Parts: sequence; C-alpha cells; structure tokens
Amino acid sequence: MPCDVKPRFLVLYGSQKGQAQSIAEGIAEEAEEQGLVADLSCLNENEKYNLEKENAPVVFIVSTTGDGEPPDNTLQFVKRIKKKTLSTDHYKHLCYALLALGDTNYANFCNCGKTIERRLQELGAKQFYATGYADDGVGLEVVVDPWLEGLWNAIKGALSKMASDRTAHLKANAEDSAKETPDSSVPDVQINLLSITDQNCESVGAAVVTDSKFASAASSSASVASDLRPASPAGSHALASQCHDTASIPTSAPQPQSGDAGVSRVVLAASLICSLPPLSESSLNVPALPPPYLDVSLQEVDTIEQIVGPMIKETFHQVPISKAVHLSRGDSVKTALLLELDISAYPTMTCQPGDSFDVLCPNRAAEVDNMLIRLGLQEQRNQHVNITLRKDTKKKGAQVPAYIPQNISLLSLLTWCLEIRSVPKKAFLRALVEHTRDSVQRRRLQELCSKQGAADYNLYVRDPSLSISELLAAFPSCSPPLSLLIEHLPKLQPRPYSAASSCLAHPGKLSFVFNVVEFPACTGRPAGRRGLCTGWLFDLINPSLVLPGKAESSSSPALPKIHVSLRPNCTFRPPSDPSVPFIMVGPGTGVAPFVGFLQQRAEERQRKPEAVFGETWLFFGCRHRDRDYLFREELEGFVSSGTLSHLKVCFSRDDRGDEESAAPQPRYVQHNLLLNSQHVTEILLRQNGYLYVCGDAKNMAKDVNETLIEMIKTELQVDQLDAMKRLAGLREEKRYLQDIWG
Ligand code: FAD
Repeated sequence: MPCDVKPRFLVLYGSQKGQAQSIAEGIAEEAEEQGLVADLSCLNENEKYNLEKENAPVVFIVSTTGDGEPPDNTLQFVKRIKKKTLSTDHYKHLCYALLALGDTNYANFCNCGKTIERRLQELGAKQFYATGYADDGVGLEVVVDPWLEGLWNAIKGALSKMASDRTAHLKANAEDSAKETPDSSVPDVQINLLSITDQNCESVGAAVVTDSKFASAASSSASVASDLRPASPAGSHALASQCHDTASIPTSAPQPQSGDAGVSRVVLAASLICSLPPLSESSLNVPALPPPYLDVSLQEVDTIEQIVGPMIKETFHQVPISKAVHLSRGDSVKTALLLELDISAYPTMTCQPGDSFDVLCPNRAAEVDNMLIRLGLQEQRNQHVNITLRKDTKKKGAQVPAYIPQNISLLSLLTWCLEIRSVPKKAFLRALVEHTRDSVQRRRLQELCSKQGAADYNLYVRDPSLSISELLAAFPSCSPPLSLLIEHLPKLQPRPYSAASSCLAHPGKLSFVFNVVEFPACTGRPAGRRGLCTGWLFDLINPSLVLPGKAESSSSPALPKIHVSLRPNCTFRPPSDPSVPFIMVGPGTGVAPFVGFLQQRAEERQRKPEAVFGETWLFFGCRHRDRDYLFREELEGFVSSGTLSHLKVCFSRDDRGDEESAAPQPRYVQHNLLLNSQHVTEILLRQNGYLYVCGDAKNMAKDVNETLIEMIKTELQVDQLDAMKRLAGLREEKRYLQDIWG
C-alpha cells in the first residue's frame, strides 16, 4: 500500500546575524501549508543532511559577511565543496534554488551565495529556480518577498519533474528486471510518486491564486479586518480621523488646526502610526503568523544577583581603559574619541596592524527599565527566567537560544542578551498584532508588515532604525509577552573596532577610535539618541576624558574596565615585504588602522635601519582642518621622520576660496586620489603595490572604487569593463583591500 507521505525538500542556510536563518525557518514553517515537508539544517550541521545522496529539491539561503566572506557557520561547507578532487558530476543529481543575501555597500556583494552557486554548477547541479540576490543596502525584502512568492510553484514544479523522471526510471528498471526478479515494492512506489505529482498539480494551481505566505489579513484576523477595512473613501477618512482621535497615541498623529473660520479641521499626514489612502483602504496581504515556540516562566529567588557584567564571556577579557582622549574639537559635528586599553595581562590580545576586536556593551539601563515597565514586569526584574521549548510548537528547527544562560535574571537577560534596540522585522510586527488591543493600532501594525505597506515600513521603521522600544511607545495598546521578545529579538552583538595602534611599538596597549553615533529624532522617536556602544562608551569615560590639547589630570577618576575579544584579520595587513609600496585611504575614523600600520612601520625602521622600505601614501579627509583632523600631530610626525612618504589631506567643509579662479581644491579623498592618479596607478599597476581603504561603507568606499576605475581607464586607455576587471583582479590578488563599515 502506498504510504501517505508529503513530498519533501531540503532547506539549508548559512547565516551570520540570523537573517538567512529566519528566512529559511519561514520557508520550513510554510511548507506544511503548501502540502510539503521541509527538512531544515544549518550548512555546518552536515551530519543532518547528505547532499551526495539528496534526491529532493534543495533550497539554499546564504548570507555574506565581512569582505565577501562566508558566515562562520558556512565556512566548512564552502571548504568542502571547493575541494579540487570533486568530479564535475559530483552533484549531477542535485536540483537547487538559491537566495543570496548581501549588502551593496560592501565589496563582493553576495559573494558567498555566488561562490556556492558557481561551485554547485561546476559540480553538475541543476538550478530549478532563478537565484535571488537580496541587498540589505536597500532592504532585503525588495528581492526576498517576490522570490519567496515564486518559490512554491518552483519547488512543486521541481518535485513533479523529479518524481516523473524517477517514475520513468523505475518503470524502465522494472520492465528490464520484471521477468527475472519480480519486486512487489515497485508498483507501490510508482503509485506513491504519481499521487505526489497529482497533488502538486493541484497545489500549483491554488498557489497562483492565493499565496499562503501572505495570508490575507481578512482571513487571518477577520474581526479586526472587518472593523477596520473601510468600505469606501468615507470609511478611510473615518480611519484617518480615528488615528487622530485615538487619545492614547502619543506621537505625530495629525493635529486639529484652526482654520480661518475658527472651525477645526484635520491636516492629514501619514506617519508611523497613521496611514493615508490608498494604503489605509487597501486589502492587506500580511505574512503568516510566526508560530510561538518558547515557554517562558519566572521564578522567585532568595538572593538578589548584582548585575555586574555580561553573562556570556566566551573569549572575552575584561581589560582596563588606560586613557580616553577627545580627538575632535568640542564644536565639531562629530565626537571622535580615542580609547587606549591596557592589555598587558592578556598576551592573547596582542594584535597585528589591521586586526580589529569586539567590545561587549550592555543595553542602556533606562531602556531596560522602560521595557520592564512595558512588559509589566518591573517587580520581577530579579527573578530567574526559565526558557523551554513549547512541546506543541509548529516552528521548524525551534531551539532555546543558546546565548541565554540558564537561571539568568530578567534584568540581566534584557541588559546583556537581547538587542532591544534592533529594528523589528515584519514577522515580529505580525506577531505583535496578536497582542495589540486597539483596533486602529492593530490595523496599522498589519499595514506595516504587509506587502502593500512595504514603503511605509521602510520609511517609518527601517530607514530611521526604529527600535522595538520606540515602536512599543508609539503603539501603547500593544503588550507583548516576554516570550515573544525572546523569540524575535536577536542576540545583543558585540561591536567591532579596528586597532589604531601597533603592539610592536606599544606593547601591552591597544587603542581604538570611534565617532559617537547620533540618531536624530524622527516620527516615532521624539528625542534623538546615541548609538548603543558608542553612547555607552562615551558615558563610561566622560568624567575622565582628556580634551584636545589638554594634559591628563591626576585628579581624574579611575577609568573603568570593558570586555573585549580579538578578531584577527588575516588579509588587511601591511605588505609582508617592507620594500613594497602601499597606499592608505582612510578619511575620518577610517584612519584608525593606518595609525597602527605607521606606528608599526616606524618601529620596524628603527629596529632594521639597513632594510629597504617602500613608499607609503596616506589619503586623509575630514570636515574641518581645525576641528576634525584626527591624529594630526602624529601623522605629521610620521612625515617628518620619513615613515610616511606622502600625506594628502582635504577638508570637505572648509572654505576653499574662489574655486572659479584658483586651482580646484580637493574636497574628498577620491579627489585627492585623482590629483595623484599617476603615482597611485604606477604603484598599483606597475610596482605590485597595495591599496587599503578603511571607513564609511555607504558613500566613501563606493566613491573611491569608482574613482579607481576612472583612473585605470585613463592610465591604461581601456574601457569601463576592462578597468573594472583590472580592479577586480587587484582585489583577487588581495592588493586592493577594504575594511569598511556603515
Ligand atoms: P548602533 O546602536 O549599533 O547603531 C548603528 C547602526 O545604526 C548602524 O547599522 C548604522 O548604519 C545605523 N546608524 C548610524 N547612524 C544612524 C543615524 N543617524 N540614523 C539612522 N541609522 C543610523 N566604528 C568606528 O567608529 N571605528 C572603528 O574603528 C570601527 N571599526 C570597525 C571594524 C569592523 C570590522 C566593523 C564591522 C565595524 C567597525 N566599526 C567601527 C563600526 C562599529 O562596530 C559600530 O557599528 C559603530 O561604532 C556603531 O555602534 P553603536 O553600537 O554605537 O551603534
């Protein structure tokens, strides 16, 4: 008898920050609604899947990290499939679809996805659905949502095809062997496979009409939808005024204004909490409700734990800050600070120029308190949190988050484990709808996570980096349980910083430089706020801060300790041969690693006076010479000592005189590169030299890249494509290197 099995497929993910994982989990969850079964695994769990024998479609969801590197949990897989000994038909049997996540602000967009795809094809695998390349720079959902929409038909089509291929194959085999060895299982398998095919055909038809990933708001929450979906424009007007009339909504809902005749009228403006037609009138396609998967309970304890530091220290060391210097002047737009750490007790923290290290930072106490109040749990702050998996959960691959230790207090959990500043994803908004009492607010949350409200989500949530706390403040009738926060908030990530010193020149010391990130006020954020880590560091060292040009005071209070861990960077290093010339491009805080490079070079020159040292160039830029010129004295000192051959600086906001009559003054680093085009290209193209870029990923790194292409075009008299290829070649040779962030 044929057994009643649903067709299965495999979902594999490689994820650094959890985005690829959550998309993969979403696919696995929806599979059941699609009449399918998905096996879900992380790419490094190779004991859970076997691609060599896989005969079902495989869906890969992979992100890219750093300078085009695979996520940590994908490294082994990439290494395995890159083995040269694999034959070109190794994956001949494999049918795959791939969604690559990346960020065009960084070099090597979606590189990990592209590498895996290239290799799969080289090994004979067949693609059953066009690859999606999602760009976090503009919003992953722009590509992810339509890609997911089309995926189900594609999987069903692939299953059908694979089933009929297999049926044909089995039939042929059966006919060949029937006379000799009758096998009673063959007909059963055939019937089973045929029934799968039939079922697929039905689902395919249905999937075209309704996409169950986006269950209609009307069907998933009928009562809300019927309350809220206005039947006519008049209805939508009523919704807009409802927005305004909702006394509990605290932010920028439209305010009544007195017209000339003294009659109140409502000025309509869309905002985080309020939409306008056509969105307010639209039927909504909202994501399916993510299945809850955690049971969370609180337990009274006898002794109250003092919250002193992070619970999970892993490879982190607690080191004292030995110096804190305000590098920019007080009236600068940006506050740039230098911190020096005393790492003498931890030799493993000794780093090479170009390395960076992670800093653990807590969530702000006031925001944690606020969250406790919002959850109605301020009295239980010291109780222990017990987290277990819900027995009946429908979530595939559900796990208790490994980064939350057992018996942690609620206060510590919110302080050290969860990124309570993270921007809520659409799935989280969808889940919040179920915990929102006010119907207007429910509708707005549905809009924000819907397909139709994608632009509003970007405008009011994603672009201003609205945090969950800020969102909850704007939607006061939303009261999520603690379990929902633990399910949806990511792990609080340490922040990486580039070493701005050389351990060879300053043994036992490690410096870094940062700008205090400022988030301006916006709709949903009544007051501006600082970046989490940079704001925390600023508060931590503020009392002892040494101001520019001032000597350290002996009466300053002792500086605190922070938790740090080394992140070696094996490629962003000065050339191993000191005679090779190199160019550094580092505006603003991007100069940090180059201070380390130059300190190291100065030390090496002293230790080996007979050695040959190549030319060094530094392109630095900032707003104003007198306010933001970081490390000015030290850099000029490197020039005087001959450590730095050429220092090219520019100031984007200083008066550049009469630009019409005078020679054009460079404004940004790329302008200075152009002015020195011949030298730069000579070093790069003829002397086998290196070029390093560090700092802002969003604008600067792209502009520098484009300028380099222009320079190569002119210098080599080649077209755009050839120049791009030449630059890509330099990247491959690891002579054009970036350490960028944004
Ligand atoms: P968060 O609270 O995490 O906020 C920062 C996030 O908000 C970013 O995603 C950013 O895109 C976004 N954002 C920033 N400003 C705004 C705004 N005004 N409006 C809306 N969104 C905004 N930084 C340095 O200063 N110096 C370094 O040497 C350095 N080295 C790095 C090395 C590496 C390898 C990497 C990956 C990053 C590095 N960074 C460096 C960046 C650093 O890790 C932090 O991201 C940065 O300091 C901000 O952290 P935060 O916690 O204060 O900000």
